[in-house]
Amino acid sequence: MFGKTGRHWQRPEQTHPMWCDVARCLSPYNHLGEHRSTPLVKRVPGHGTVTAILTQRPGGHVWLEIILSARVPAVDPAKQRAWAGRLLAGLGQAIARAVDHRPTTR
Ligand SMILES: [Zn+2]
Repeated sequence: MFGKTGRHWQRPEQTHPMWCDVARCLSPYNHLGEHRSTPLVKRVPGHGTVTAILTQRPGGHVWLEIILSARVPAVDPAKQRAWAGRLLAGLGQAIARAVDHRPTTR
């Protein structure tokens, strides 16, 4: 049995980062939910789209979730995985260059 303590349980007030799209936010549903921004979509003509979404779990870091939808060239199916691997390697280098703000040494 539960005794009465005279205390009232209260849920912590819900706050959202200023970039959170509250309609897409998953944080109110459980403590593992995350804040989510409105997707930023960049079309790459002839190749596909890149979608970026800011996310943050309560008390955690802010992450940028990037979703790439790219059309795979009509190459030999056995080579499509290699093509995907090269694309991923190039993306990794491009992302590193885009976020690396250290001064270059010459
Ligand atoms: Zn939120």
